[in-house]
Amino acid sequence: MKVHSFIRQGPDLLPVEVELSLMPGLPQISFLGLPDAAMRESALRIRSALREQGFQLPQAHQVLVHLKPTHLRKSSRGLDLAVASALIWETGQLEKPSWLERKPYFYGELSLKGEVVPPDDLGDIETAEGDLLITGDGADLPLGPALVMSSLRDLASPDLLQREGVAIQGERPRLSTESFPREAARLLEVIAAGEHATLIAGAPGSGKSTLVEAVAALLDEPDPRTFRTSRRLARLFGREVSWRPVVQPHHTITPLAMIGGGLNPWPGEITRAHGGVLIMDELLEFHAEIQESLREPLESGSISIARGGHVRTFPASLLLLATTNLCPCGEFTPRRENTFCRCPRAVRARALQRLTGPFVDRFAIFALTDRWADERERIPTSEIRTRVEEAIWFRKERRGQLVPNGKLSESMLESQLGSTEKRSMFPEGLRSGRRRLAIMRVARTLADLRGSELISSRDLEEAAELSWRTHERLQAWRE
Ligand SMILES: [Zn+2]
Repeated sequence: MKVHSFIRQGPDLLPVEVELSLMPGLPQISFLGLPDAAMRESALRIRSALREQGFQLPQAHQVLVHLKPTHLRKSSRGLDLAVASALIWETGQLEKPSWLERKPYFYGELSLKGEVVPPDDLGDIETAEGDLLITGDGADLPLGPALVMSSLRDLASPDLLQREGVAIQGERPRLSTESFPREAARLLEVIAAGEHATLIAGAPGSGKSTLVEAVAALLDEPDPRTFRTSRRLARLFGREVSWRPVVQPHHTITPLAMIGGGLNPWPGEITRAHGGVLIMDELLEFHAEIQESLREPLESGSISIARGGHVRTFPASLLLLATTNLCPCGEFTPRRENTFCRCPRAVRARALQRLTGPFVDRFAIFALTDRWADERERIPTSEIRTRVEEAIWFRKERRGQLVPNGKLSESMLESQLGSTEKRSMFPEGLRSGRRRLAIMRVARTLADLRGSELISSRDLEEAAELSWRTHERLQAWRE
């Protein structure tokens, strides 16, 4: 018979299928499929546990335990329970319970006396919604339903536990005491309410870094399941998180440290930002390989590392906030006829070329700082926070949408746009599907900020300004 458990692969516990069969032969338990020494030892514990708990080992039969996938070297602290349970059912010593149909995951160590002990890496298990976990009674159970037992004898009637939430030990980061020019304040509230990947370009000292650093304290509270993962990932880096993580690497960071990798692949800073914010100041100064590697997290919320013919995928669902100069002197702006830029034409053209490439196209918002200094009126962060909170409340409570708008799929947005009349409101000359999607996501956030179910033509216009016009203006300067 087959049951499911987990094996350790570097920083993660991966699901494994455990197939147990009986063959005539000497009574012993043998593991197939690259077990390590510790796992071979578990055969002794299983035999002793079964005997102590009053179960029989099959006579004149050998127990074969086959582990899939077969190509990975197996190490596991919690496989004992899976093997012992399967053996008890396979030999008909207990009736198979109805909950086996839910394909539960078994993860527990056995003592020689047959007590079921939750392995100390139980907290690394990531179950999906609705998965059922079978283990010993312990502290660090994942979210969702679990059947727990104190000894193997309880297998006939384990206790059902349900963990609903995870304690978020800590609180929202302190709100910035800065105030922002109206245009910057608007940008800040849109980023924070919708969680849109944003690139801000402008001269040094124009306030772009201050703005991206103010975002984290305005964001929605962490989702419990994601927070549990962020916390686990932080521990791999020897850190603790008490809220959504904020990761701000320097541009001299190596691709290995940023992306992850190595012989036994380990995640990098990109993964440490999972569930939180990744801030990249001077974006174009980062190694080209790093810039390239960000495409995947921005599209799929994860990052893959290829190693020896196999691919490891780490979580990387993050809000990317980046800043850059538009040219080496920093003074160039495509919005003014008389720009103060002192760079030679060719140098500037080269810089602009990098900013009109496919990488920059991944950002939902591309904003310029050149008008911020002209504004007299300044908006305090506390006021921005109130507006952001109201927009998030509207999205979750009134519209019933749990994912932030920055992660909305095209089909979910299309249904909100509706009529062909609205479709024609997209700016003329806009052919890129990715830009259209960005405009729609941002427009959805603008509608939430107004407290409106419907996206209006004004929302689309303002979204086009945030998501597309900068690209268009830079393109015009290149030509
Ligand atoms: Zn310049």
